[in-house]
Amino acid sequence: MRYHNITKDDMLNGDGLRVVLWLAGCSHCCKGCHNPVTWDPNGGLVFDESAKAEIFEQLAHPYISGITFSGGDPLHAANRADVRTLMAEIKEKYPKKTIWLYTGERWESIRHDPAMAYVDVLVDGEFVQEQKDAKLLWKGSRNQRVIDVQKTLRQEGEAGLALHCADYA
Ligand code: SF4
Repeated sequence: MRYHNITKDDMLNGDGLRVVLWLAGCSHCCKGCHNPVTWDPNGGLVFDESAKAEIFEQLAHPYISGITFSGGDPLHAANRADVRTLMAEIKEKYPKKTIWLYTGERWESIRHDPAMAYVDVLVDGEFVQEQKDAKLLWKGSRNQRVIDVQKTLRQEGEAGLALHCADYA
């Protein structure tokens, strides 16, 4: 897994103050993408132990609400397994911190991915320039959704009910 940046005290990519991991690799090629430099899965830096330690050090601060995985696409084939492993480790070490995930995939195609067990809030779908709206909270275009993943999984399991927007949406 490779990454471009780790940003700290971020207020734009999820609720509260967050650490954000910007991963390399995306195959969605959305027109108007704000970050095409992240498309190449071979770009950026190797995500190594020191990068992980940098994230954990941030998560240890009580004022940090959690981590957001963005990119690029954290669910790109080059990232998916390593992201899941990292999420599991974070949830074990910092169970009170929230995990947000931005992906170009739609919920319907990833809802059975084991990584969803660790995700609190998912912002799904490709960026569609024709549906861009600067007034939207946490997302760039109207087709995208801010999903409360755990509530949605619980309700799907119980009654096959549809997806739940996060309170932040
Ligand atoms: S999914 Fe995100 S990073 Fe990938 S092309 Fe679309 S807007 Fe850019």
